[in-house]
Amino acid sequence: MKTDGRQTRFRRWVSGRHRGKQRAMNNKPFSSFEMAQTQFDHIGDLLKLDDATRDFLRWPMREYQFTIPLRMDSGQVAIFHGFRVLHNDARGPGKGGIRFHPQETIDIVRALAMWMTWKCALVDIPLGGSHGGVVCDPHNLSLREQGRLCRGWVKQLSRDLGTHIDVPAPDVMTNAQHMLWMLDEYEGIKGEKSPGFITGKPVGMGGSLGRWEAAGFGLGFTLREALKELGMSPLGTTASVQGFGNVGQNAIRLFHMLGGRVTCVSCWDQKDGTSYSFRKKPGIDFEGLLSITDHFGGIDKKEASSQGYEVLPGSAWLEQDVDILIPAALENQITQDNAAKIHRRVKIIAEGANGPMTAEADAAVSAREIFLIPDILANAGGVICSYFEQVQSNMNYYWEKDEVLGKLDVKMTAAFRSVLELARQKSLSMRDAAFFIAVARVAQACKDRDWL
Ligand code: NAD
Repeated sequence: MKTDGRQTRFRRWVSGRHRGKQRAMNNKPFSSFEMAQTQFDHIGDLLKLDDATRDFLRWPMREYQFTIPLRMDSGQVAIFHGFRVLHNDARGPGKGGIRFHPQETIDIVRALAMWMTWKCALVDIPLGGSHGGVVCDPHNLSLREQGRLCRGWVKQLSRDLGTHIDVPAPDVMTNAQHMLWMLDEYEGIKGEKSPGFITGKPVGMGGSLGRWEAAGFGLGFTLREALKELGMSPLGTTASVQGFGNVGQNAIRLFHMLGGRVTCVSCWDQKDGTSYSFRKKPGIDFEGLLSITDHFGGIDKKEASSQGYEVLPGSAWLEQDVDILIPAALENQITQDNAAKIHRRVKIIAEGANGPMTAEADAAVSAREIFLIPDILANAGGVICSYFEQVQSNMNYYWEKDEVLGKLDVKMTAAFRSVLELARQKSLSMRDAAFFIAVARVAQACKDRDWL
């Protein structure tokens, strides 16, 4: 239906389509969700999406905010705040991580859910996008308390989660053990075994071989393709990595297997409440570093010094004289303020984290013609393997690790090639090309279902 210009402008204002631009003019930084919406608006313009499609896809389809009363080991009850957001399920059941983090907000959860929708569509798996979390710091919770927190989260959501509805997975500061506690609670409520309810479970308890490696290895596969594209041999290339958890560790592992050398790693130090970078110019000793890392991905500063690492400020990882940067920690790490500090030698940035770069930093990086592997492509290995795990769990038949990682390589390489091809065809950035493919697929699915 056609409307006059004034109505359209009003609807756009109400739906917030121009709020991003207004914010930028006011010099206020974007929140994560505003950034995700602004990215979507830009692609909506490129795709010439109609107003209804834009207004629908720039918001989650449903979201839950709730409290979880938790009996602490001391006997006292503490109240925690939990979230689950389903952005879109036109292409299949929701899929997305659960984050335990003291700075978790509904805004971050909305952004991560939206990015997940695009990610699943981009790598062409039949899943939608969701995300969830709890505002908490697991560093300060005993294992029993964490177990009860996981069960409390599931109790609140059990009606709206499930293998055909919405399937959770690990994210920052959650792991296979958390997934197993959640599964156990869900199966208790439903009164039946349902291993496809959640992914990232321990191997042998419905988990998939290769799931632990998947997000980092997936990044490694796209990095291998990018190096090929730039005519660079991986042998002797160097990288600096922010984050030494699931994604960072496994990206490093594969990069080393390809012949590359990581010279600097940065991570959070819980005791000091700040981050540090650990540098060894000839290259880190991966296993040695792993042996002094806790299960949150925090490296022991004193031990690192005694292993010969220079202990530098947290920001130093970004300034290294290396070929490749891999941000694999949190959102908004490369910003207008520090993008200029990226060394002139850097040729590739592979985004292991979701949303690690602000829009301004993105513009600066693209002006310098650094080859960018955008987050929804680079870290899609996690959700691809989660999808494989769901398939295996639903069949109750489990594949060998080589089969899982081989299938992952095929999917990641195909997605990389299609993004690169479109970027060339339409003279788009790699990020725009990735979002273009993804948003077009989701918009089409909504239309095919006659929703829009
Ligand atoms: P993790 O909890 O396993 O590790 C996080 C790492 O980041 C730790 O080493 C931590 O010390 C470090 N870190 C935290 N804050 C930091 C800071 N301010 N400065 C430097 N380092 C900091 O988390 P993860 O699962 O590896 O996830 C990392 C990122 O990758 C997140 O953005 C997540 O959403 C994304 N991601 C994860 C998966 C997955 O399957 N786990 C998949 C796709 C994307």
